[in-house]
Amino acid sequence: MKATAQDFRSKLFDKKNLKIILTLSGLVVLLLAYTALRDTDTLITHKQANILYSKDKIKKVIVDGDYIHLKTDGGNYKIYKNAINTAAFFSKYPVEVKEDKGYIFDLLLLLILLGSIGYLFRMMKVNRLQQLRQIRGAREENAEIYEPVQALKSNVTFKDVAGIKDVKEELEEIIDFLREPQKYRDMDIRLPKGVLLVGPPGVGKTLISKAVAGEAGVPFFYQSGASFVHIYVGMGAKRVSELFKKAKQMAPSIIFIDEIDAVGKSRGEFRNDEREATLNQLLTEMDGFEESSGVIVIGATNKIDVLDEALLRAGRFDRRIHISLPDLEDRMKILELYLAHKPNNVDIESVARMTVGFNSAALDTLTNEAAIYAMREGRKVVENSDFEAVKEKVLLGKRKILSFTEEERKIQAVYQGAKAVVATWLDVEFEKIGIVTTRLSVQEHEILSRSKLINRIKVYLAGSIATKLHYNEQFNNAGTDIRQAKELLNKVIYDYWMSEDFIVNPHKEEELMREMVSEVTDLLKKLGKALSDVSEYLLQHENIDQEACRKILLEIF
Ligand code: ADP
Repeated sequence: MKATAQDFRSKLFDKKNLKIILTLSGLVVLLLAYTALRDTDTLITHKQANILYSKDKIKKVIVDGDYIHLKTDGGNYKIYKNAINTAAFFSKYPVEVKEDKGYIFDLLLLLILLGSIGYLFRMMKVNRLQQLRQIRGAREENAEIYEPVQALKSNVTFKDVAGIKDVKEELEEIIDFLREPQKYRDMDIRLPKGVLLVGPPGVGKTLISKAVAGEAGVPFFYQSGASFVHIYVGMGAKRVSELFKKAKQMAPSIIFIDEIDAVGKSRGEFRNDEREATLNQLLTEMDGFEESSGVIVIGATNKIDVLDEALLRAGRFDRRIHISLPDLEDRMKILELYLAHKPNNVDIESVARMTVGFNSAALDTLTNEAAIYAMREGRKVVENSDFEAVKEKVLLGKRKILSFTEEERKIQAVYQGAKAVVATWLDVEFEKIGIVTTRLSVQEHEILSRSKLINRIKVYLAGSIATKLHYNEQFNNAGTDIRQAKELLNKVIYDYWMSEDFIVNPHKEEELMREMVSEVTDLLKKLGKALSDVSEYLLQHENIDQEACRKILLEIF
């Protein structure tokens, strides 16, 4: 908040400051009064002085600097010393010479004034600091309220984690160590302090870490990397040390740091002091504790390549476990787990087959949505059709509304139908091609040949070429496919160098594209009847799978 002049004034005159100001003003007034009053003698002329002299009224003569003070019974007077014959006065009356102490008073006054001003400023500063401390204290309290470092008790065990068998096996040793650290200490066995789980979101990195804590029966400290750097300056590092302190107190225990890349991003050109301070603290803490202390730090990230190397150095996160999207077998296990308590009549394998690319979290949502759908339809048992009905919704996050006009639907039927027939003819696998969506099968861990890649590009081009043939026109619905075709072609030429002479240049790109367009055009001309049948099928059924497409082709050829 910006301080306004009014703020300042109101702060200046708050109760405490007001007291100080009043006291000091009083003091100053007193001093001024004193100096004003300290010399009250009346100044007289030499004539008056001579009268006093001659009338013998004077009791005492006091010499004070340049003045002569004359004390009489009727009052005290003073006169400039050069105005009178001082010798005459001195010989007639008792004389007292006053030391000139005037400057001492002035000095004293100055000192008191300076002192007072200094004191005033100091008090104001102290007040300000107190206010700042109060504000900071409140902030820290707030941060504590939002995210206290506290241990969780994990009820999750390996039974709740479906699939990822390899990951579980890798973590068995850690669990054993957490259960019986002494056994390892006795044999002087060193275990990793940190384990890094690397994999895309929603594949169970958090779940498996909780399961490790659950299996070992140790406390689980959860902290997300982002939370370290989003809080106030200087707090990230403080929280790291607090986290480790508590974890050590409760050892054996697990510290889980989700999205560790938020803290551990390599210190590139964009410096961030807060993150760096936090990272340094994390490194210090990890170096600082003994392998045998019983604390295991599990970090989770999707982007190991952006992590600061320091984090990956020996003695820190030196064990890495990769978790990828579930494959067919794992998808079946996960679906089985999610369906375990739902009355169902589902062919799990077929659902698993139609969910290539789904992570566990999406499978969880899908199963739930399918059950909701079945219930809404008034059934007590979940069926495969329920999964099909909600799949698009889960994929898109919302139900896809078909808002095409009849004419647009026809264009799409030709466009998508061409992709289906060309893909089937060229053996490019797809799960389903619909009026709106295309899901070519994702090849998992596969070495792809040049001809396979070229065939895939041809499928992307097929729709656009078909509308050109059919309507003598091209449409912008081809955008995504054309982009994918270009990207893949680019990879074939520039990344994989797939040409007979290994020469790469834009000329090659053009040549290959021309070749492919001409081949697909010829092919579509040849498959004309099949295309119109498939388009018809699409208009009726909304989508087609490869089996149905193959059947249509077989009837013709
Ligand atoms: P990540 O930490 O990798 O982003 P989470 O552990 O948060 O993923 O998992 C996301 C969701 O998916 C959670 O609801 C979790 O229970 C579920 N889940 C993830 N992996 C599995 C699995 N292997 N078995 C069962 N459920 C899983």
